[in-house]
Amino acid sequence: MPELAEVAYYAAQWNPGLSQKILRVHTGPKPRFFRNTPPSAFAALAGTTYRHARTHGKNMLFEFSDGLWLSGHLGMTGELLTGPPEHPPTAHDHLVLYTKSTALIFRDFRMFGCVRLDESPSTPPAAWQSLPPEILNPQFTTARVAGALQRHARSPLKAFLLDQAWFPGVGNWMADEVCYQLQLNPATPSGTVDPAALRKVLRAICQKSMKTIAVDWSDPPATWLMPYRWKDGGLCPGKNCGTALVRETLRGRTACWCPVCQPGV
Ligand SMILES: [Zn+2]
Repeated sequence: MPELAEVAYYAAQWNPGLSQKILRVHTGPKPRFFRNTPPSAFAALAGTTYRHARTHGKNMLFEFSDGLWLSGHLGMTGELLTGPPEHPPTAHDHLVLYTKSTALIFRDFRMFGCVRLDESPSTPPAAWQSLPPEILNPQFTTARVAGALQRHARSPLKAFLLDQAWFPGVGNWMADEVCYQLQLNPATPSGTVDPAALRKVLRAICQKSMKTIAVDWSDPPATWLMPYRWKDGGLCPGKNCGTALVRETLRGRTACWCPVCQPGV
């Protein structure tokens, strides 16, 4: 499932269409993908100019002229890509915006992603403005993290890190990475975690991911857990460790950790 940096990577895939006029719009036949907007409403994008993309955690927002904003998320399998201007939509292309030189495609095989369209004259839609501060935002303070940890003191750290209201953009691999870099077992009660240390590690992981994965899908450092966590048989990259990593289901999600560097609680 795309997390912070992967979402930023995908949002940038529509950049070839920046400053271009949308000539026509294709919407697929699955209304579920357009949860809050009737599919026919997307025809209003025809004639507008694509201006800007931004992301917030796992959310994406695309600004068009005439005060139109397209927002959405990728769900588990969504992706944004471009095609030639005559691109014939596939069964999984739920939204295609055609310009003179390219086609901006939102493809999703499993339909957990979705988009909506809002009209708002000059500022992003209200729902966007009320999103919680992102981890790299100055408002993501140690005090905020401390308050969050105390309010969810008994939640296992790994599970709590997936809460988008507190940690926008953090998904399964980032949460495992945070636990690994803090050398804490994923089951550690959140109330016992040092908020300053957690904030520092979260910010460092976000910053590095945005400079690697978000730019060109390049690998994060080999000292991270991330490259080794995806399948059984991975070894801990810790200095002088090399222990076989553990992969277990924790609250419905696969958690991966090093039993030596992150002993049980
Ligand atoms: Zn280890």
